[in-house]
Amino acid sequence: MEGLPQGPGRPLSWDNVRYGSASLGYINANQQGLRQEAGRPKVITLYWPLTDEAPGPARRRAYQTSYADWLPRVVAELETYHPGVTPYIQAADLWVWGHGMVAPTPGLLWGPARAAARQPLRNRIFFAHTDFSGISIFEEGFYQGIRAAQEILATKEKVS
Ligand SMILES: Cc1cc2nc3c(=O)[nH]c(=O)nc-3n(C[C@H](O)[C@H](O)[C@H](O)COP(=O)(O)OP(=O)(O)OC[C@H]3O[C@@H](n4cnc5c(N)ncnc54)[C@H](O)[C@@H]3O)c2cc1C
Repeated sequence: MEGLPQGPGRPLSWDNVRYGSASLGYINANQQGLRQEAGRPKVITLYWPLTDEAPGPARRRAYQTSYADWLPRVVAELETYHPGVTPYIQAADLWVWGHGMVAPTPGLLWGPARAAARQPLRNRIFFAHTDFSGISIFEEGFYQGIRAAQEILATKEKVS
């Protein structure tokens, strides 16, 4: 996006959801960028759950729908958020995903790979990510962040 024309209402957030919308809204993928946001091009990710029919037919319809068919629907949806936004779109990629976040494969949650992956490197680099929980939700993000912070503190205590 070259930009997002703003109107009255809430300013841009990480997760932007419109009341009554068929889509789940969009996230600002540059939210954690350290540079000043004003006027800069943006990358956004809009999510659309296909919940208006049963999963099987919805999935088949999704796979049979072409980029050319999806695009005007997505643009029309975005126009309801930001009227006049269409000329600001520089490029649009579309994916059909079973779930917006990662999903654990059998064996991941209780197998050794997950515990092994979160081990620190030389007790200097510590990892905190929901990937180490296997389920991507905020609670797991907080848990992994606190766990990594506690590991750092315990390591510091041993050193000092
Ligand atoms: C639209 C949407 C709605 C959601 N709603 C909910 C909800 O209602 N409730 C809920 O519990 N969860 C929700 N989630 C899931 C939740 O956002 C994630 O589980 C959570 O943000 C994951 O946190 P994280 O810290 O593990 O990873 P992330 O938030 O992905 O953080 C990883 C960070 O690492 C940065 N990074 C990546 N590579 C590098 C690199 N090489 N160098 C430096 N930095 C790097 C990324 O830019 C990012 O900032 C939602 C997700 C989406 C997309």
